[in-house]
Amino acid sequence: MSESLTTVAYLGATILFILSLGGLSHPESARRGNAYGMIGMAIAVLATVLGPHVTASGLSWIVAAMVAGGSLGLYAARTVQMTQMPELVALMHSLVGLAATLVGYANYIDPSVSAQLAGAEKTIHEVEIYIGVLIGAITLSGSLIAFGKLSGRVGGKPLLLPGRHWLNLIGLLVVIVVGQRFLGAESVSDGMLPLVVMTVIALLFGVHMVMAIGGADMPVVVSMLNSYSGWAAAATGFMLNNDLLIVTGALVGSSGAILSYIMCRAMNRNFISVIAGGFGGGATKPAAGGGGAAQPEGEVVAVTAAETSEMLREAKNVIIVPGYGMAVAQAQHTVNEITQYLRSKGVNVRFGIHPVAGRMPGHMNVLLAEAKVPYDIVQEMDELNDDFGDTDIAMVIGANDIVNPAAQDDPSSPIAGMPVLEVWKAKNSIVMKRSMASGYAGVDNPLFYKENNRMLFGDAKKMLDEVLAALKAAA
Ligand code: NDP
Repeated sequence: MSESLTTVAYLGATILFILSLGGLSHPESARRGNAYGMIGMAIAVLATVLGPHVTASGLSWIVAAMVAGGSLGLYAARTVQMTQMPELVALMHSLVGLAATLVGYANYIDPSVSAQLAGAEKTIHEVEIYIGVLIGAITLSGSLIAFGKLSGRVGGKPLLLPGRHWLNLIGLLVVIVVGQRFLGAESVSDGMLPLVVMTVIALLFGVHMVMAIGGADMPVVVSMLNSYSGWAAAATGFMLNNDLLIVTGALVGSSGAILSYIMCRAMNRNFISVIAGGFGGGATKPAAGGGGAAQPEGEVVAVTAAETSEMLREAKNVIIVPGYGMAVAQAQHTVNEITQYLRSKGVNVRFGIHPVAGRMPGHMNVLLAEAKVPYDIVQEMDELNDDFGDTDIAMVIGANDIVNPAAQDDPSSPIAGMPVLEVWKAKNSIVMKRSMASGYAGVDNPLFYKENNRMLFGDAKKMLDEVLAALKAAA
């Protein structure tokens, strides 16, 4: 394939990637968006592999790597549970970081590259390598720790080292000083030590950054690492002189940055403070068994599925708040059936979606769309938080942190200041979960003890099946 044909193909792929991002902005057009993305990526891969820079012997290596990587990816995508998606995404981000780091080293030691460059061009190329490896290594180790935290292999409690901000600052200064030595190195062997030192610091920084994040602030970190993986890809594009990789990386990097900003707003957090670590750790000494907040007191009132169906039958206005437990139980289809049934009886049913519900951005929207819940009754937290006062029943399905009143009432709570869905303002709330266990942030929830709250204990899918059966039996 000639150079000009490759350029045209790259241009087409770029347009498809932009259309893809546009499509992903709404559930109704998301499938189309995904299709654009897949076609764009197929064109990009073909144009690169068949392009003028790939030799015949290189091609066989590339095909072998694609078969191996493609099989692994296919296997992972087919076997992953819906609830493990965020972990898989974190793992994928770490691979982008690893690729950027390896490409950086390969580029630095490749004699055919260094022999061609001199003067300013050589310096620019080395700056690209240094920054590419820096971002790549932070993304690699940070994403691996995020994977550990999301999968429960690494504890959710923030690791707050004494003088952690100073440690970060010293690390940054060393990276700058070592960078000067790297750029001033006479030969590849001279520059190798500074490059390795910087890589080690960057890896440690990635670990430190994510370890210092409290449970409830993980969404910001996940979207931030998504953004980093984009910048790492863009840096790889600079090193390899590949325009499409630069554009694609920049698209992922900037959309990830916008998502991080949205997440920060949803959590009412300052972006810099989250990155520097320490938020979500609790303002006071953590209480045993929970976060830093005061322990709620009182008694909880349990109800049965039959009693729940009776309460629903008498309601005129219902708001359903789904959370991570709905994903675990795969209860979305039963939720949809109950919704259809209540709507057929004239009940006004709506869904309240918290921006960080579940374990990844848009988690609940994806599940509800899969179950074919109509989009127009699925509303964002800001759209319906004022409506709980006029609501008969707020039905909380496997959600916990996102409906915790301690976020508003208890300044010592690790989730203090995070906006939450105010379900306790409804005439009655019903919380569906298996036990009194806390959610991802590890914080006790005073909602359970409120006078107008009822608890329906059990697996969400099983309990909702029983509620649906009771509703139909009474009809
Ligand atoms: P939570 O993790 O706060 O609570 C989920 C609840 O679901 C648990 O308390 C659990 O209680 C219950 N549950 C689990 N399995 C079942 C089941 N089979 N049936 C019924 N209930 C079940 O989830 P939320 O959605 O309320 O909040 C999300 C949390 O995750 C926030 O803290 C957020 O910061 C964090 N997070 C979000 C990310 C995102 O991008 N959205 C990314 C990373 C973290 P029990 O065990 O008693 O059943």
